[in-house]
Amino acid sequence: AKGAGRDGVVLFNEEVSHRVELHLQIERLLHFALENQEIRLCYQPIVDENKLIVGAECLVRWYSGRLGEIAPMQFIPIAEQTGLIIRLGEHILVTAFSTLRDWHERGMELQQFSINVSVRQLLHHDFVNHVQVLVEHYLSPGLAGKVVFEITETVIAADVHSVVTAMNELQRLGIRFSMDDFGTGYSSLSYLKQLPVEELKIDRGFAHNVCKDEESQALISAILHIANTLGLTVVAEGIEKEEDFVFLRDLGCRCFQGYHFSPPLEGDDYIRLLTHCSAG
Ligand code: C2E
Ligand code: CA
Ligand code: CA
Ligand code: CA
Repeated sequence: AKGAGRDGVVLFNEEVSHRVELHLQIERLLHFALENQEIRLCYQPIVDENKLIVGAECLVRWYSGRLGEIAPMQFIPIAEQTGLIIRLGEHILVTAFSTLRDWHERGMELQQFSINVSVRQLLHHDFVNHVQVLVEHYLSPGLAGKVVFEITETVIAADVHSVVTAMNELQRLGIRFSMDDFGTGYSSLSYLKQLPVEELKIDRGFAHNVCKDEESQALISAILHIANTLGLTVVAEGIEKEEDFVFLRDLGCRCFQGYHFSPPLEGDDYIRLLTHCSAG
């Protein structure tokens, strides 16, 4: 028993040091990645109740020459902790805006073009100015109105006054807001009313197998009811099965996202799909 305990300790230490090592390595390689074009964006279609494409969500991708593909869930939190999210976020915004302009110039019209923005980025003192410069450089006045920033409920834990101020200034530039992963975090309804949000994205945990899960059904019904009352659009994400899509559509959901319709795509593949299944 004593021996096993020691082994347990050794294993634990190895695991922790491996994680710390990986964390440090990712942090170092992220700097390199930003300077060497290893960071790109993919675009996942957002569809309406007829499965026609109405928008896209930009999702960051990192193919590291050293470590291979690294998932956003692995490096975004590290970028947030180290402050690198500011540079990374700028790179994502520039890439996203130039894609939106490029698609527009090629005659492709979307209702919305969604970009994930972390709280730390949103609250950075230079963020609003920076977005303004980019909007003026890349986007014609009508085009800025297609941009939706997806923020998470963690903004509620931050200084709400600063959050609201930043959001209002961005809204004046034409940018709209969506509350991502809705239902998983603080979900304070009073804050939802204070923030200039126009859309709720129901977390994929609720959509998955919803047609068989009564608790998820009750939660989603409640969310749809709140959204209706507040005049918000709802996007159900993580749809993997036709049954779940049909169920949510009949419940009143109007926008959907998930592997059932399409995985996140390279820009060219997105365009190819769009020319076949566009709503616009
Ligand atoms: P998210 O914003 O909730 O993005 C949706 C995630 O669900 C994406 O994972 C997407 O690939 C995945 N997904 C889409 N459809 C399905 C489905 O049918 N089933 C399942 N199981 N998953 C599906 P991804 O790309 O790995 O991103 C993970 C998270 O990383 C995102 O969650 C977001 O929080 C963060 N992230 C991704 N891109 C960015 C970015 O550009 N900036 C920031 N700040 N965060 C990002
Ligand atoms: Ca998102
Ligand atoms: Ca989400
Ligand atoms: Ca998320």
